[in-house]
Amino acid sequence: MQDRRFGSAERNVSTIGQGTWYIDRADRASAIAALRRGIDLGMTHIDTAEYYGEAENIVGEAIAGRRDQVFLVSKVTPQNASRSGTVAACERSLKRLRTDRLDCYLLHWRGSHPLVETFAAFAELKAGGKILSWGVSNFDAADLEDAEAAAGEGEIACNQILYHLQERAIEHAVLPWCRKHNVAVVGYSPFGHDDFPAPRTTAGRILADIAAAHGATARQIALAFLVRSDPLFTIPKASDPDHAAENAGAGDLRLSDAEIARLAAAFPPGKPRRLPML
Ligand code: NAP
Repeated sequence: MQDRRFGSAERNVSTIGQGTWYIDRADRASAIAALRRGIDLGMTHIDTAEYYGEAENIVGEAIAGRRDQVFLVSKVTPQNASRSGTVAACERSLKRLRTDRLDCYLLHWRGSHPLVETFAAFAELKAGGKILSWGVSNFDAADLEDAEAAAGEGEIACNQILYHLQERAIEHAVLPWCRKHNVAVVGYSPFGHDDFPAPRTTAGRILADIAAAHGATARQIALAFLVRSDPLFTIPKASDPDHAAENAGAGDLRLSDAEIARLAAAFPPGKPRRLPML
């Protein structure tokens, strides 16, 4: 499994991690087995959120006894992101996750609480050792400018944003901004949240072609494309252990420049537009 530096977190993190949104809708034993299988295969970056309901408890169970192996990320819901609300939300997440610290804590999306308040809470949590780094999610380039003005340069570890083959809007402004400011880009919903390109489409056939050349699956090629360069990470969610194993298998795939160009042409990024989110 490939890893790379995670922004200001000052440590390397697996480029392919594991999401947990709606993981509580699956059979609980299967969800836990999938997360553990993923960790065993190197997908040690685990993403969750207070917003995902029971998911944090499931993650807590899955990582019991192997906390030190994972890079654990959770998020505060914007409605809770006042200074005291953020601290309280983090405490609740730590309890559900059965741990004393998060590796990274994110503001889930920008809400009405001033960024300075949320970031002051992040600084307080960091000083207390409850979080080791912090970041944002669903921040467009203008939001990132505001965030950096509020926090100072070098504080924001990552920006978690929607990124998959059929949704490449981040490449216009957000990804270049993050690259320039050493902010990790964690792409979410890499399979389009269950809208993966069908094999019968022209683009789907190109994906299948490249997959065949690597003895890989189309989803593995998609994941490899989504982490093709710095500072990209991706967090597919799988509640089926076989899906988790397939996703981890992408961690050592390397696409050639020609393959990347072919995929980029098959799934064009479209015109610059506001950052989309799910
Ligand atoms: P996704 O990862 O694009 O797709 C998940 C779906 O793909 C599930 O139905 C899963 O099935 C299926 N799947 C996974 N691996 C597969 C495989 N190898 N073969 C076939 N099917 C496979 O969607 P997502 O959950 O929306 O996004 C991933 C994560 O990003 C989330 O879980 C969450 O942690 C994060 N996220 C963050 C935000 C944000 O605002 N920050 C928003 C959305 C998502 P099974 O479950 O049956 O295995």
